[in-house]
Amino acid sequence: MNHCFVDNSCITSVSFHCDQKCGQQNHIPPNIPIFDGHIHLNPIIPKIQSDLVSVRVASPIREFHFINNNHKPDEWLIPNPSSFLSHVHVYPTIGIHPKYFDSKSLYQNFDDLKNYLEISRNDQNLKNKIVAVGECGLDETSMATIDHQIFVLEKQIDLAIHYHLPIVLHCRGTHLYRKLFDCLRSRISDRNMRLHWHCINSNANLHIVDLFLNEFPNSYIGINGSITYETNTERSLMFKNWLVDRSPFLPDRLILETDYPYLPPRNLHGIYDPSCALLATATYLSKTIVDPSQTILSYICSSNKNIKLVCLSSTQLQKRSTTSILIHKNCEDKVNLDYKPILNNNSTNNSHNDINYNNKATVFHHEDSVNFLMYDTVYNSGELAESQKERVPIHSYVKILMMYLA
Ligand SMILES: [Zn+2]
Ligand SMILES: [Zn+2]
Repeated sequence: MNHCFVDNSCITSVSFHCDQKCGQQNHIPPNIPIFDGHIHLNPIIPKIQSDLVSVRVASPIREFHFINNNHKPDEWLIPNPSSFLSHVHVYPTIGIHPKYFDSKSLYQNFDDLKNYLEISRNDQNLKNKIVAVGECGLDETSMATIDHQIFVLEKQIDLAIHYHLPIVLHCRGTHLYRKLFDCLRSRISDRNMRLHWHCINSNANLHIVDLFLNEFPNSYIGINGSITYETNTERSLMFKNWLVDRSPFLPDRLILETDYPYLPPRNLHGIYDPSCALLATATYLSKTIVDPSQTILSYICSSNKNIKLVCLSSTQLQKRSTTSILIHKNCEDKVNLDYKPILNNNSTNNSHNDINYNNKATVFHHEDSVNFLMYDTVYNSGELAESQKERVPIHSYVKILMMYLA
């Protein structure tokens, strides 16, 4: 008996092999991971355990990845529910939501935020790494004045720039989109900064969203269950038309998110299981856009790729990637010399220097071998501070390789 269901989609296929005799049209094949770009798991650990029904199976058929937003300073101390199951990965963000700050403790919050980011940067344990700053932004329902909210937002933008982290943005109030965008534009000089503007729906100022996507090439928009809250209003219709018009580039800029425990998709019935909710949102999206080349599965795969691009640093991928090629002295041809070598001094472990190829690949020393590790996606090199980068010519790179091989 399924604990939840989505019209025309097989929920069973989220956690089990389905022989497709169920009669449902849409299935998620096993082994395709599910990435949720924005969730809140912290305050409700016992509830997560009961709501994440689909991940709690004896023989898992896929991996689940959750970008977990720690947006309330009061809850920063609560440990992330990391790895309660080995196929479930939780990546923390940290930030101050415009609704959840108190001016009395604000400067203490800024200090704490900086400390957490500093600790995360130096932490050898990849599991604890903070992957983004946020969610932060502007909110018309906040008790704080807009000027005060802007001040708190700007502080966080500066920290994200300093720590080379992406920013998760929140904006409630159509009239505030322009203010938030202006703030980003004036504060961020590196247009390649990675940005995730979460919860884009019919309440968004879509003109500003277009400007945002054009201005920042590594920016993404988060689509969640709130897109299913259809009304007959002009806004709802405008949003649908906007999705259809922008659909050619949507797969490149889309992040699927649940925002659980908020915003359950209306076409998800039964328990709000966040591991199934993305399927509902993707189902709604493909029904709205009606393009045979864009399917539920293709949206999930594009979103997975984009979440990795925006939030998961190369360091984390390095650990998780399974593609590693052993380089021997006589097979230099395995290395594409077009990759500009960067000596990655970012590693705090000085006994091994990883060589990072524009974040497209890494050579690292592993016991007696040298491994050449290809990332499955191309990363922008914004991860490393300019001061931490040292470009080395190809011959030096070969020399370094030889050193490893000696
Ligand atoms: Zn099925
Ligand atoms: Zn949220």
